[in-house]
Amino acid sequence: MKPVRIVDLHADFPMDMARRRAKGEHQILERLHLAKLRKGNVTAVIVPIWVESAYKPDHALKRGLHIADALLQDLEESPSFQLALNHQDILDAEREGKISLILGAEGGEIIEDDLGLLRDYHRLGLRCFGFMWNQRNLLADGWDHVKDERGLTDFGRQVIGELERLRVVVDLAHMAPKSFWGVMDVATRPLIVSHTATTRHKSLRAMTDDQLKAIANNKGIVGIFAVNTGTDVVTMPDLQSYCDHIEYAAKKIGAEHVGLGPDFYDYFLEDLKTEYPSENFQLVKGIEDHSKLGAVIHELSKRGFSDEDIGLIAGENFIRLFREVVG
Ligand SMILES: [Zn+2]
Repeated sequence: MKPVRIVDLHADFPMDMARRRAKGEHQILERLHLAKLRKGNVTAVIVPIWVESAYKPDHALKRGLHIADALLQDLEESPSFQLALNHQDILDAEREGKISLILGAEGGEIIEDDLGLLRDYHRLGLRCFGFMWNQRNLLADGWDHVKDERGLTDFGRQVIGELERLRVVVDLAHMAPKSFWGVMDVATRPLIVSHTATTRHKSLRAMTDDQLKAIANNKGIVGIFAVNTGTDVVTMPDLQSYCDHIEYAAKKIGAEHVGLGPDFYDYFLEDLKTEYPSENFQLVKGIEDHSKLGAVIHELSKRGFSDEDIGLIAGENFIRLFREVVG
């Protein structure tokens, strides 16, 4: 089959770039990521502002702006990349041989309690907004609060309204169930769960079948992550188990609602091992980084997926959604 356009729904480049630039590194996109992305035929990547827990909640706004600045500065030094503000930007960049980055967020702490700050991030180029990491914040609850969850807050509801008005994609990754259903009650635009798993393995981090169906009814996309902590029951040791989750989701809700959100961490594995010593982070065998994404295409083809469905999962679903939601 001909080369397939790939969109990665979730890669934590910005936080890592802020750390590296603080140590004096430059052109991180070109030096660290370009060759792997090219080898994997990646067209676009959603790169979220993820703020370390130590900065939350009091310093999340400043750290979030600092991380966004690191990304935007590195983009200025990296001629092979560009910031995509709409779907046409992605297609134009591809024609020019460039890779698109879509500025996202992973945790609503960066806007504190203020819709004006959300608009400011939008002015910086934010086009995808993830409400949560694992903690509770002013918008909703993350996975840490499955047992004492209070759900989507009034402010969280206001954020949904403002995101829809601004035409920003809503991302429900890391969200606890009651909050998830709270969003589904009010959302009127297609949304994504950028990086998650299915209940093929039981885990708090996985979407139940009902959740998968709700995303499909909303015309949204569920991105499958490639995470291997060695401890979490959802852990995916290799390419086969990664593709098992894709296959499971595609069978439940159709290939037109599945995507790739591998959440690669090859470029900051040492940091993870230091910061989360109780987890045993290992790379997923056969799909360790962006350069290996072709193996997913190959494996799905071997499993009988049609070329059309593979194209949808790899990237076309997101291009469609981005056009519909953002423009
Ligand atoms: Zn995450």
